[in-house]
Amino acid sequence: MKALLIGEYKNGHIDESFYELVGFSKKIGSETVGFVVAPLDSKLEYDGKVYIADINKAKDYNPKVHKDLIINVVEKENPDIIVFSHSSYGWDLAPRLSVALNAALISEIIDAIDDNYIVPFCNAKLRRRVKANSQKVVLTLQSGAFATFKSGNAQIESVNEINPDDRLQFEGYEVAEKTGVDLTKAEIIVSAGRGVGKKENIEVVKNLAKALKGELGASRPVVDAGWLDESYQVGTTGQTVSPKLYVACGISGAIQHLAGMKKSNFIVAINKDKDAPIGEAADVFVVADLMEFVPVLTSKLTK
Ligand SMILES: Cc1cc2nc3c(=O)[nH]c(=O)nc-3n(C[C@H](O)[C@H](O)[C@H](O)COP(=O)(O)OP(=O)(O)OC[C@H]3O[C@@H](n4cnc5c(N)ncnc54)[C@H](O)[C@@H]3O)c2cc1C
Repeated sequence: MKALLIGEYKNGHIDESFYELVGFSKKIGSETVGFVVAPLDSKLEYDGKVYIADINKAKDYNPKVHKDLIINVVEKENPDIIVFSHSSYGWDLAPRLSVALNAALISEIIDAIDDNYIVPFCNAKLRRRVKANSQKVVLTLQSGAFATFKSGNAQIESVNEINPDDRLQFEGYEVAEKTGVDLTKAEIIVSAGRGVGKKENIEVVKNLAKALKGELGASRPVVDAGWLDESYQVGTTGQTVSPKLYVACGISGAIQHLAGMKKSNFIVAINKDKDAPIGEAADVFVVADLMEFVPVLTSKLTK
């Protein structure tokens, strides 16, 4: 099997997500080749060939230009799978490519087991095994689902046939305004999940955060319910954090949450379900009702 890995160039460098695509292909044991629209002198810690289309000519993002460039590489390399990150770039480009190549599209993959791709559904409560029945397949990988893999230096091959498309013009990125807490710098984070049950119970988790001299964080349902504002959210659509200590209270451990906190140095999870997936990521897993356990822990720490 051969995989074409589509990298992204963001904020002046090749995005780290490229190395998750490499980690994924290592896991499934495929041969690989890379492609990215970036400056021609870009460096990649990747032991293989990478086609680079000059970003000065191909522009930052133009779906038609980028799609055509990838199709050219597909014709040269004949990969079985074309792999994107499940990012805004991948969301937009992968379906376009799948239509153009008449290839199946499997998006938001979190694992690969025996020729099947594992994809969450029902808001990540359930997982299904998916197998494509087309010869070529376009895939998008959920961020954080696969370990990064880096080695060596890429052998760069520049792509010269770039056909500009004047119908669309890339204007730039707009950085979201930062409001509320900046969790990225916190050394200790105590997060509340849906398991807190109601808004008033957030106080219990907040008190533990205070006792540990840490910051309060949250999973997405807590934010969606309006119990805390979005600046508290940890995960793929929230903040990515790497504190020394992360305490997850009533959080199940969905991949979108794990992707935002699994680089924490030490993880403590408190959950009443002994089979909750967060247990796999936790260094210490406390199986308990948080409404009973957390106040006792807080009071002991305060004393
Ligand atoms: C595109 C997309 C992006 C997403 N982005 C994010 C993101 O950035 N961040 C994020 O967090 N999620 C995100 N999600 C949602 C994610 O898939 C999960 O739905 C979410 O993380 C679940 O949050 P939770 O663990 O708090 O809730 P649940 O999954 O409902 O888990 C609640 C947990 O609490 C436990 N519990 C219940 N009562 C108690 C109690 N009394 N004591 C102890 N434990 C208890 C339960 O056993 C359960 O494990 C995203 C989803 C999608 C589709």
